[in-house]
Amino acid sequence: MRLILLGPPGAGKGTQAQRLVQKHRIVQLSTGEMLRAAVAAQTPVGLQAKDIMASGSLVPDEIVIGIISDRLDQPDMKNGFILDGFPRTVPQAAALDELLKKKHIKLDAVVELRVNESALLDRVETRVAEMRARGEEVRIDDTPEVLSKRLANYRTLTEPLIHYYSERRKLLTVDGMMTIEHVTREINRILSAIGAVEPKGAKAAAPAKKAAAAARKTAKPAGKKAAKTAKKAPKAAPKGKKAASRVARKAAAAAKGRGTAMAKKVAKKTPAKASKKVTKKRAKR
Ligand code: ADP
Repeated sequence: MRLILLGPPGAGKGTQAQRLVQKHRIVQLSTGEMLRAAVAAQTPVGLQAKDIMASGSLVPDEIVIGIISDRLDQPDMKNGFILDGFPRTVPQAAALDELLKKKHIKLDAVVELRVNESALLDRVETRVAEMRARGEEVRIDDTPEVLSKRLANYRTLTEPLIHYYSERRKLLTVDGMMTIEHVTREINRILSAIGAVEPKGAKAAAPAKKAAAAARKTAKPAGKKAAKTAKKAPKAAPKGKKAASRVARKAAAAAKGRGTAMAKKVAKKTPAKASKKVTKKRAKR
């Protein structure tokens, strides 16, 4: 799974990224963390970034693009990754597109965590208080003044990425004002719906999964073709017949919507649920 998490400071990107990392065994790439490590280690990049970060401005594009490019070449990337804090500008997004193309890596989705701006200051203040209580070092840019600069930068430089990825049919928006648990559940639900994660019980429900995957694959270029494949799908999955065709139909319907908006792919009842039913049926036998 290859994802980008998008959202203003305090939206919960770091929290959700950690949960996704644990659940899906992928790697989190946080440019903020990497830069803070570089500052602490006083590397040439760190020395360059230190004052910029402290003031709440953005580090030059070339620096972060270089960091990410090197990181994507590491062997631990093969299971997938979550980019947190990158890209943060349109030129960074364009550079990432180029990098991924060159490295033959496909991005599954960009998950935008949408939050009310009025809640952000409170959230960051809570984070600071909790870190202090744990005796951890507090980020030097987590003050109300610097935060308002970071927010202003987000609005002008990063928010245009919402349009950028929406145009490219990659954007999925999640309400980041729900509880942490709810946001996690919602992210996982939409990721299953677009086929970015293996549905639960994937092993036992292999035929259904195969049918869905086949339908999705064929469905990508054209909706009509997709529907045809979906109808054929049960043949490929004689055992979990009903559930398999349900999954295939969902996948085809989902892929059909690709032309209008990625969000349309996210049907309420996901393929994950359908294949779970197959798993349950099997267990009974
Ligand atoms: P937040 O999302 O809470 O603002 P981060 O930890 O992602 O915090 O980033 C902290 C700081 O690191 C930013 O304010 C910026 O100075 C720098 N930074 C992180 N990622 C990037 C990036 N992609 N481009 C430019 N600067 C970055």
